[in-house]
Amino acid sequence: MAIADTDIERLRESVSIIDTIQGYVQLRRVGRNWVGLCPFHAEKSGSFNVREETRRYKCFGCGASGDVFKFIQEIEHLDFVGAIEHIAGKAGYQLTYTTGGQSKDRQRSKQLTEIMSQAVEWYHNRLLTAPDARVAREYLRDRGLSGDVAREFKLGWAPDDWDALSRDLGVSIDLLRETGLGFVNKRGKAQDSFARE
Ligand code: ZN
Repeated sequence: MAIADTDIERLRESVSIIDTIQGYVQLRRVGRNWVGLCPFHAEKSGSFNVREETRRYKCFGCGASGDVFKFIQEIEHLDFVGAIEHIAGKAGYQLTYTTGGQSKDRQRSKQLTEIMSQAVEWYHNRLLTAPDARVAREYLRDRGLSGDVAREFKLGWAPDDWDALSRDLGVSIDLLRETGLGFVNKRGKAQDSFARE
């Protein structure tokens, strides 16, 4: 179960961070800020600042900072969902919970994105460091592409191997297939899409 994103946004906009924090810390107005003694570290003069416009707090003493959800998480020792429920409860706001399926989809797409960025890093590191990528590095240099450019655009290089990525990433073939990074070859084995034939 997950809380609908629209609820989270609506709460963030409707709940006053000043009022919420004032339930825990005495704040006084100083210019555009509200200032008080930081609840996260011991201090005698107030370095804890809250600003209504940005809906954020920041302590110049210990560096604690965040929005109203983060504040409740920290002070009530709750996780993100717990903090939202806490705030919604106080505000009398009815939360909508999304179905398990929807959050599973989100988890899946997060997982795929994660695998993609691992693969980008993997191919990129091969290009930069693998001994057998020297030819590729020389080729790029000849074309006038420096290491800086390769790093900026995360250029990658696929080794002369048909399943190096699949083996190294240790990810199921289903996930590789879904990201387009791999497939099942005629011999029924996982094969990298970017492998050279
Ligand atoms: Zn502090």
